[in-house]
Amino acid sequence: MATNSKFIFVTGGVLSSLGKGLASAAIGALLESRGLSVTIQKLDPYINVDPGTMNPFQHGEVFVTDDGTETDLDLGHYERFTHAKLGRDNNFTTGKIYHAVITKERRGDYLGGTVQVIPHITDEIKSSIKLVARDVDIVIVEIGGTIGDIESLPFLEAIRQFKADVGKENVIYIHLTLVPYVGTAGELKTKPTQHSVKELRSIGIQPDILLCRTDRYLSTEIKRKIALFCNVGVDEVITAKDVDCIYEVPLVFHSEGLDDKIVELLHIWTRAPRLEPWRQLIERFKSPTHEVTIAIVGKYVDLTESYKSLNEALYHGGIANDCRVHLNFIDSETIDEDNCAEVLANADGVLVPGGFGSRGVDGKICAARYARENRIPYFGICLGMHIAVIEFARNVVGLADAHSSEFDMTTPNPVIYLMKEWYDDKTGTIQRRDIHSDKGGTMRLGAYPCLLKPDTIAARAYGQSEISERHRHRYEFNNDYIEVFEKNGLVISGKSPSGDLVEIVELADHPWFLGCQFHPEFKSRPMDPHPLFRSFIAAALKKAGDRPPSQ
Ligand code: GLN
Repeated sequence: MATNSKFIFVTGGVLSSLGKGLASAAIGALLESRGLSVTIQKLDPYINVDPGTMNPFQHGEVFVTDDGTETDLDLGHYERFTHAKLGRDNNFTTGKIYHAVITKERRGDYLGGTVQVIPHITDEIKSSIKLVARDVDIVIVEIGGTIGDIESLPFLEAIRQFKADVGKENVIYIHLTLVPYVGTAGELKTKPTQHSVKELRSIGIQPDILLCRTDRYLSTEIKRKIALFCNVGVDEVITAKDVDCIYEVPLVFHSEGLDDKIVELLHIWTRAPRLEPWRQLIERFKSPTHEVTIAIVGKYVDLTESYKSLNEALYHGGIANDCRVHLNFIDSETIDEDNCAEVLANADGVLVPGGFGSRGVDGKICAARYARENRIPYFGICLGMHIAVIEFARNVVGLADAHSSEFDMTTPNPVIYLMKEWYDDKTGTIQRRDIHSDKGGTMRLGAYPCLLKPDTIAARAYGQSEISERHRHRYEFNNDYIEVFEKNGLVISGKSPSGDLVEIVELADHPWFLGCQFHPEFKSRPMDPHPLFRSFIAAALKKAGDRPPSQ
């Protein structure tokens, strides 16, 4: 295999939600801080070909990369913690792997052979891993699921074989487990870790490093015990202690010696890590001088994982303004004209995020109206922009029956609709949509360019005239209404270069009211907060006045 990359495989044991995605991202950050280039890949055991069709209630946010791939939310962590450029090859599912193998089988590629999990599926997995091993020092591969799951077995077998293929000096296995503190016994328990490692070894993988998720630092004595039972060195048992802020994870890992151990085991020489930016970030995050409360009026409010990138982008906006951001999730189905003022009373800013389906749309329209009339900063993202446009059409322009044709196919005033034809700046082709278009493959997905109008909220926030942002939607602003909207005070501040697509709208006579057709949250980083979130939080802060943070 023609690659000089080294590989780190990250598996998880005991139970899910231990933070394997964050751990992988943090390892990436640490290795970057030592001057290495990294990429991170997620292998997901579920059968869906991609997470695009999965319900956010079950699986959390669908993260979109520049190239328009709908991916697992862990890729969001990878992008926020590292500079890795991620795309379609950074997320494979069982479905995508089988799809590729079955397509080859139908084409006759296997020439009469019997197609089997080993070697055909495992070979496909190994080639998928190799796809990202170009021009990077380190490839980190996170295996979704928990050791012991039936679905993940082919992936584990593939990564087991991988070591023999590329040489043992080029591969390490890191296993994340749980070391729970049992209050009644007054001690930390190592048995779940022992069992999980036993399971992993029974399929032929001996972990090199154990990341032990726990609420307190492990004593040397406990580390010794784990090391003995799991066949690793004491210094290969790392405390993955709970943290208040996820961006502390690289620092905790470093203080436990993780990055030193990784480079030692992979036989790489690097400079010392430069972690000062991470330390400063935590400092700013932990001791802000102000605070604001942002009301997020949406549908998936019980599972905040559904808005992972959004939440992080709001925190980043806070960091940029030396300000703590409280998120108040409000189920839009519980808002109506009567209670709106009461429900949003303590909001310094209102945000309506992206979404699909008509449930709760009326409540979101009430929230947008309240924010517009009471001069509260409003940020509408994708569906949130549609909501802002519908509300403006109805209550400012006077088109009482205005709607999006997503929610009312027969509305006489479809201010948001399926655009019949437009010039697509990304592909250089004419695109067409109508109600007969397929649901799959007809969304506008991934990065699109957008030109900003000078002297607008958007242009001031970005400080440049051309931007690129990521999309994931089917419906668009209806250009037939531009004239009447502009006459009534709506500003079209962002358009596609061809001029066919409205990408950003804002209000002329309002402190901060902006709706964008794209999802800016996907591109925000803790070290580089997104301009719109930075500007939105600054406006919310102005509204909040000089309120100091509560303790
Ligand atoms: N449902 C809307 C559309 O498809 C908005 C999608 C979104 O908010 N991401 O256009």
